[in-house]
Parts: sequence; C-alpha cells; structure tokens
Amino acid sequence: DIPQPSPQAVRPNPVIDRLPPYAAGKPPAAVEGLTSYKLSSNENPYAPVPGVHATLTEMVSGGQDASVLCRYPDPLSTALRERLAAHHDVPAEDIVTGAGSLGALTQIINAYAGGHDDGHRDEVIFAWRSFEAYPIVVRTAGAADVQVPLTADHRHDLPAMLEAITENTRVILLCTPNNPTGPVLTTDEVEDFLAKVPKDILVVIDEAYVEFVRHDDAVQGIEMYRRHENVAVLRTFSKAHGLANLRVGYSIANQEITKHLRVVAVPFAVSTLAEQAAIASLENLSDVEERVQKVVDERERVVAALTEAGWDVPETHANFVWLPLAERASEFAALAGTRALSVRAFAGEGVRVSIGEVEANDRFLELAREYIQG
Ligand code: PMP
Repeated sequence: DIPQPSPQAVRPNPVIDRLPPYAAGKPPAAVEGLTSYKLSSNENPYAPVPGVHATLTEMVSGGQDASVLCRYPDPLSTALRERLAAHHDVPAEDIVTGAGSLGALTQIINAYAGGHDDGHRDEVIFAWRSFEAYPIVVRTAGAADVQVPLTADHRHDLPAMLEAITENTRVILLCTPNNPTGPVLTTDEVEDFLAKVPKDILVVIDEAYVEFVRHDDAVQGIEMYRRHENVAVLRTFSKAHGLANLRVGYSIANQEITKHLRVVAVPFAVSTLAEQAAIASLENLSDVEERVQKVVDERERVVAALTEAGWDVPETHANFVWLPLAERASEFAALAGTRALSVRAFAGEGVRVSIGEVEANDRFLELAREYIQG
C-alpha cells in the first residue's frame, strides 16, 4: 500500500507568506440613479480604435482567420515584433512580448534575480510607493525587494536609490511616470543615475504610461536603451491603446539580455487575438493618439480644477492623479463609492484617481471640491 499524504503535507512555497496582496481596482458598487464609473485601474476609458474592432471581429466571426483560434499562437509574436521594430526603429531581436508589461517584467526578474542555495537573495531596488506588483514579482522569484521611499514631492529619490546598491543588487526598477503618483524622471536625472550604476546591474525603465507624457525633458527609455547596454524598457498596449483585457506588453533590450528573457518566458503567453489587435492598433496610430490626447486634455482640466479648489497634487504625466490624503485616503475612497465612482485608496498614503469619461471626471471634481471645503 502506498501511504496517502494528508492534505497538510502539501506545503506551499514559503514565499507565499511574504507576498503582499495585489489589490486590483474594483468596479464601483451600483448607486441608484447614477451611472457607475471605474477610476481605479488606470484603464483607457475609450474602447480600442475601430481598426482593432474590425480585426477582432473578423477573427472571431468566421472570417477567414477564425481557424487560428484552435491553434497555439506564434510563441515569438513575430508579426507584432516586426511591426514594433519598425515603429521604434530597433531590431526585432531586441523585443520580447509578454502577457502585458507585467508578463514582460516577470521575465526580466526571473531571468536576472532569485534566491540561491546558500540562502542569499539577489536584491531588486525600486522606489516606493510605486507599482504594487513589483514586490510580488520580485519576492515570488525568491529575490529580495529593496524599497526606497519617494521624496516629499512624490518623485523617485535617485541619490537614495544609488546608496541602496549593494554587491547583491541585480536589478533596479524605474517607473516613469510613476504609478501611483504621476511625476516623470528627466533625461538628465536618468543619465546621471546610469553613469553611477555599475554596468552589471540591469536598469529597467517601466514606461507603461509614456504615451500620456507632455514634458519636454522627460526621459525616453528607448534613448537610454540605445546608449546603455544595461537598460531594458517596458511598454504596454494596456493603457494608451486601450487593450488592457487582451494582455500584451513587451520589453526592449539588447540581445544579450533578450536571449535570456526568451528562455524564461511563459510559452504562448500572447494570443493571436492580442497580437493582431496590437498590430491593428499600431496601424491606426493617429486614432489612438487622438484618444490619448483627449485623456491628456481631461487630465489637465482635472489638475487645474483641483489646484483651483485648493488641492496640492503632484505634477502628473500619466492617466491618473494622486491625492496625498495620508490617513484620510480610505475615507475619501468610501465617499467616492457613495457616488458610484471607484478610486484606488492606498491606506495611510493617498488616493489614485484614473482619468475617465468627462462625466466621471466632473463627478470626481465635484466630490473633491466639496471634500476640501470640509
Ligand atoms: N507597469 C506599471 C507602472 C503599471 O501601472 C502597470 C499596470 N497598472 C503595469 C506595468 C502592467 O500593466 P500591463 O501588464 O497591463 O501591461
């Protein structure tokens, strides 16, 4: 007889106990008489552009491509990578796709940081607060996260991040614009930083929101990748392109790096639907840019109205604003909920509000004005 293990014998990876929860943005609760708006996940409020609809419809409605759905996708997303290579003027070999830029980030961390048999952990440095998936991905890989607090004006503290480097540092994550606070890093700041970072540390520039940036001196990740061999850039179709649901993102780095990313990449992570939708979006870029500009215009309207009402919000170049409400964050988010708006509260720190439809932004502004007046 083979002894049957008790259920308790099935033990999870101990890393489970070290993971903070990923509190994904929730949809708003229904409120009688009000349209609900989700402003909690930095999504694009507009549906993908018509060219994307046409492509997807053709693929799922019995058009000649419908048979692709019973076959696995191209694991290398070759067609998309070639389109992106032309778009960015980089070699296709320098691009690796993933299920969202989060998939691409996971490849980078898994390939460059982990834990070792002797118990020591590689270190990954990032600013905090920043994108909440960072500690999850880093710790899941068995590596240690080193969180460097933002400055008082909600920006990366690059000198402190340099000081945090040790002989165990393998990767540094820069998020520009920073989620959830909004400021960008400038070219000069990042050039100065890169000049001081040892060349055997990989510096990842997460540009999930780069299309919304309107700042002359903002760093351009791809320029940094061209000048520095230890730089990788992360981009996504989830935000500006409005394709969050289809899960497609990518990294750009030199081939010495991307060859390792392909080894750890989850096979077939990007479906053909996602790949073709992304290509169609790139082929209809002026439609995409028009929508992005609408979001940027709304952001500027929202920030101006908040400032006028007496709010002190950090300069944002993304599709969200940060309200540094500290211990009143949860209270504000609950109030927003009573008005059928879901926003993201980071308890004790602040509230992140995505730029949404005009009516959603108006309703948020009304609440923000009332709130600051007490
Ligand atoms: N990076 C940043 C800074 C983000 O805010 C997000 C999404 N919230 C991502 C990466 C991941 O997005 P996706 O996987 O949809 O590309």
